[in-house]
Parts: sequence; structure tokens; C-alpha cells
Amino acid sequence: MADHSETIWFESALLDAGWARDVRLTIRDGVIAAVEAGAARAAHEAAHGPALPGMPNLHSHAFQRGMAGLAEVRGPSADSFWTWREVMYRFLERIGPEDLQAIAALAYAEMLEAGFTRVGEFHYLHHDRDGASFANPAEMAARIAAAAEETGLGLTLLPVFYAHAGFGGLPPTAGQARFIHDIDGFARLLEGSREAVAHLPGAVVGLAPHSLRAVTPAELAVLQALAGDAPIHIHIAEQTKEVDDCRAWSGARPVEWLLDHASVGTGWCLVHATHMTPEETLALARSGAVAGLCPITEANLGDGLFPALDYQAAQGRFGVGSDSNVLIDAAEELRVLEYGQRLARRTRNVLALEAGDSTGADLYRAALAGGAQALGAEPAALRPGAPADIVSLDPAHPVLVGRSGDAILDSLVFAGRKDVIDGVWRAGAKLVTNGRHHRRGEIVARYRQVLENVLA
Ligand code: ZN
Repeated sequence: MADHSETIWFESALLDAGWARDVRLTIRDGVIAAVEAGAARAAHEAAHGPALPGMPNLHSHAFQRGMAGLAEVRGPSADSFWTWREVMYRFLERIGPEDLQAIAALAYAEMLEAGFTRVGEFHYLHHDRDGASFANPAEMAARIAAAAEETGLGLTLLPVFYAHAGFGGLPPTAGQARFIHDIDGFARLLEGSREAVAHLPGAVVGLAPHSLRAVTPAELAVLQALAGDAPIHIHIAEQTKEVDDCRAWSGARPVEWLLDHASVGTGWCLVHATHMTPEETLALARSGAVAGLCPITEANLGDGLFPALDYQAAQGRFGVGSDSNVLIDAAEELRVLEYGQRLARRTRNVLALEAGDSTGADLYRAALAGGAQALGAEPAALRPGAPADIVSLDPAHPVLVGRSGDAILDSLVFAGRKDVIDGVWRAGAKLVTNGRHHRRGEIVARYRQVLENVLA
């Protein structure tokens, strides 16, 4: 019988039990088959730098990468999430299937280069430019799958159900025409999405009610049944206006309402959950759901600060997502998360779990576990049985000189840029070498052509 295993040797690696030196991973069929620490490097093995499990990116809208930096001009009145959303709606009006694939491929290649090895694509751009359904209702989902396939990024596809413009089942606006389904149409999209990813190794299909603004309670109940054991994600409590509107509609705040009216548990990811009372924070932590934090986007949109310290004290689970993709960088998501807390509290090392802990390492480990849970994926870990999703750092980079153990993670999170990343493997395939995705050239060339046309 042919043995398709290969070995990769790292000078050190972050294993479940902590950092180990001279680590050989044996990879078979995309999965880590064996882990050996204290292993002398064989003559035929290349020497790689410190190895980390690849970070899951639990929340992305890939097409928004194409408008990164285009919503930073001051408008006539106070700019907010809602004025940003107008720019985003105008941008997406121009995007067809090929455009979506080209932009998503760039975003996904950048994710791999930035230390992410799986994405949760919260996908809501479903219909043609005039709002009509494509012949294949999952045409756009298939383009997301194609972008994941050509870049090699792991995919958890989360087709979004969007039916209303506001609480109480308000009819959608013209700008939302490309997102809209009834439940029957959505069930067809879900089926088509499963077909679209069927050939992708390790792909997962969950679903996403867009927000409590966009679904009615009756629709939410049906969606929860449709999801079964698959991941279910929802945007929630990102904006204070959303909290006010929810209270006006129901008398309850968004997270409070959701915890009272849905079976929120470990299959759920509540994206943002920025505006919570201490009671909501505690209840969300106890639910076992993951808070999907997107610190760079939340800062960019002026959303507010997640109550991270209280949530962490209640053993709340979280992961990170690049959301609007205004900047794609796994370590920087963690950096901005911690820095927001430091600025608000005027103290340091807020999210280290206990005295003596490294902040970068605690953040990295928590986001690995929360991200994998939210995406319905196998644990993101360097251990036998886990997917071979690995990030190696450049041991010669100045920022890593003299660092070992968790100081490597602190230096990556607080002192490094993307160029600290050397190699990235996804399901055992090496996709990034010297910090560069192996198809970057062709992906950027196509993106340039597509985007110049979209923005013309
Ligand atoms: Zn989002």
C-alpha cells in the first residue's frame, strides 16, 4: 500500500502541552498523523521556524475587501456604521459572479499569508445585480467555494438568510434586493451551497440569520431547525441603534432577546455582541456559544468595545474574524482586541488569564479554540488527528531574535507584522512560502482587472 505521508521539521512548535523544541510532524492525507518532540532533523528535511496552529477566521464578507479604504472620507454629517453601509451597498451593486470570485480569491490568499487557515464566509450577496435569482440560486456561493478552492483556504460557508429591513418584519429596501429570500428560496440556496462545497476537503456548511433586524421570530425558528447540528451565526448588538430598535420592538435588548427565544448553545456564534449588559455578558458566556469578535472592523466602524474582561472572567469563548476585510491580519486582530481594553481601562495585559501568563499566548490559544468551535471544524491544534493547518514564523526575523516559548507569541502579536510569517500549510499542502501565497501573481493580476472595471 502506498504511503502518502510526509514529514515537516520545525525548530520549535506550540503543542497542546506547550512549546516543544525540535518537532517533527508526520502528515498523512492532510491530517497530522504523529508529533515527535526532541527529534533530530534528518538530512533531507528542511528546517522551519517556530510553528503555530493556523488561526480560524470566523467572520468574513470577502467582497468587501475590494472597498477597503474607500469609506474613509468624512461626509456631511456624523459618519457611522450606517453611512459606511451606504458606501458598501453602492459598491456591491456592481459585483457579478466573476468579480466576486476574483475579490474573494485575493482576500483568501491574503488570509493565508496573514496566518488564517480557515474562513467562515458570512455570505449574503446572493442574487444578480437587478435582484433576480441566478439560474443556479447558489451561483455566488459556488464562486466563494471556487475562491477557497483556488487558494486552498479551509471554508465554512454560512449562507445568510435576509428578509427584512428592520425589526418587526419591515419590507427590505431596494439596496437589499440582492440579499433577499423567503424560507423556501433559502432552503434551495442551502441545498445548492452544500453541492457547491461537496468536492472541497474539510468544507462545512452552516447558516446565518443576518441579524435580528433581518429575520422574524418565526423565520428564526425555522432556520434553527434547518441548521440542525451545523454552525449558526448571527450579527448581534453591533450598534447602539440596533439595541434601541430592538428594545422598542420587543422590550428586550438583542442578546437578551436571542438567549430567551432561541436555543443558543455551542453551535452558535454571536458576531460582535458589542453592546451587552453585565447580565447579558454572563449569560452569553454560560451558553457555551462563541462571541465572534472583529476588533479591526469594529474599530474601523466605530462600533464600540466588547466587554472582554467580564466575558473572559465568566469563561466566555471567543474567536476573531476579519469581517469587512479592511485589513487582514490574524495577529493584529488580537492586538487591537487587547489594546482596546488597555485604552479603556488604562492598564496593561488585560486579557492574560493569570499572573505570569503571556497575553499574546492566552489570546492566541483562546481564539484558536473559539474559532474552530464556531466554524464546526476540527480543533486548530498541532496534535495527532488534527488537520495539518500550520503557520511557521521566520526565525531570522529581527522581532524573534532571542525569543522562545510564549515570548514568540507576544512578539508576533504585539511587535510583529505579517512579514514574520514564513510558511503556511493548509490540510498538509504548503500554500505560502517566504510569506507569499504560491498563486499571488495571477490572483492579483485578475483582481486588478476586475476591480478597475468595478470601480470605473
Ligand atoms: Zn459582518
